[in-house]
Amino acid sequence: MNKLLELLNLQAKIQVSDAKMMLRSRVMSLHNPHLTWISSKFGKIDTFSLSFQFPLSHSTSGNPKQHVLASSKTQKPSSSGTDKFIKTFLFVPPGVELNEVNEDMILPGSNIVVGPYAGDARIKEVEFVKSSGRAKDCPKDDRPEFAILGRSNVGKSSLINSLVRKKEVALTSKKPGKTQLINHFLVNKSWYIVDLPGYGFAKASQAARMDWSSFTKGYFSNRDTLVAVLLLIDASVPPQKIDFDCANWLGRNNIPITFVFTKCDKMKVGKGKRPDENIKDFQELIRQNYRQHPPWIMTSSVTGLGRDELLLHMSQLRNYWDQ
Ligand code: GDP
Repeated sequence: MNKLLELLNLQAKIQVSDAKMMLRSRVMSLHNPHLTWISSKFGKIDTFSLSFQFPLSHSTSGNPKQHVLASSKTQKPSSSGTDKFIKTFLFVPPGVELNEVNEDMILPGSNIVVGPYAGDARIKEVEFVKSSGRAKDCPKDDRPEFAILGRSNVGKSSLINSLVRKKEVALTSKKPGKTQLINHFLVNKSWYIVDLPGYGFAKASQAARMDWSSFTKGYFSNRDTLVAVLLLIDASVPPQKIDFDCANWLGRNNIPITFVFTKCDKMKVGKGKRPDENIKDFQELIRQNYRQHPPWIMTSSVTGLGRDELLLHMSQLRNYWDQ
C-alpha cells in the first residue's frame, strides 16, 4: 500500500534533465503513424476530449490519491482560456511539471499526460495463470497488477482480448449467480492483468449481489501489488447509478482508478446521446465526489480506439510503481 501512496500522492523525485529527455522521447512516440491514424479517424472525439472539460470546475472533497493538476492557483497563466481549462483536469503523472505540459503530451481521447515513466507498452506474451475463488488464493508474488472491473456487458472481455490481441483470453463466466472468479493473466512475465467478476447483473439475486460485493471487496482490501483499477464505463448508454456507486466505493477506499470508457464507436440510436455526450454527463457527476479528476480514456474494442494509449498509460503507472 505504501508503494501505491507514493505513486499517486508524490511527485517523482528524479533528475529534471533525465525527466525532460525521457519526456521528449515519449512525446515523439506519440506521433507514430498508428496514433496519428487514430487521431484523424476520430477527429471529432479528439476535439471533444480537449474541450469538454471546459465547463467542469473543482470540487473540494474526494480521493486525494490521484495525481492531477490540482488547482488553477498552481498554474502559470496560460496563453488561452481553453488551454487553462484543459490543464485543470488533466492527469499529470509523476515526473512531469505542470508548466511543461502541452497538448502534444496528452493522449488522444483522454485527459492523460504522458510522462517520463512511460515505457515499452507492447504486450509480447500473455499467459493465463489461475482463477481464484477467494482473494487469499490469488498469486502471491511482487509483480504489479491492474484490475479490470465493470458492469456486466460493459465490454470487459472484449477489452481484455483487444489489449492482449488474443481471442478468448478472458473466459469469465457471464451467468448471473454462478460462482465467479478472479482471473490472473501474466503479461511479458512481469505484470498481471486481473479480470474481476462483473457487477450489476440485472437478473442476479440479492444474495448473488452481496456475494459479489464481499468477494470483490476482499480482493481490493488485500492486494498490495494493485497499481490501479481500470473501471470500465459503457459510453453508449447514459451514466448508471451502479457505476457511480462502484467509483465512489473505490474512491472512499483510496484505490486508484482509471475510467476506461468502452464502446466509443457506437453511434446514437434514435434520440439517445452520443458516447461523448454520455461521457461528459458521467464526468460532471463524478467531479462532485473527486477533488482531483481521475485519469480517463475513450476506447473501442471494435475499432481499436484507445488501445495503444491505454497500454502506454498503464506502462507509466507500472514503471513508476516498479522502481
Ligand atoms: P463483458 O460482459 O463485460 O465481458 O462484455 P463483452 O466483452 O462480452 O461485451 C458485451 C457486448 O458488447 C458484446 O455483444 C460485445 O460484442 C459488445 N461490445 C464490447 N465492446 C464493444 C465495443 O467496443 N464496441 C461495440 N460496438 N460493441 C462492443
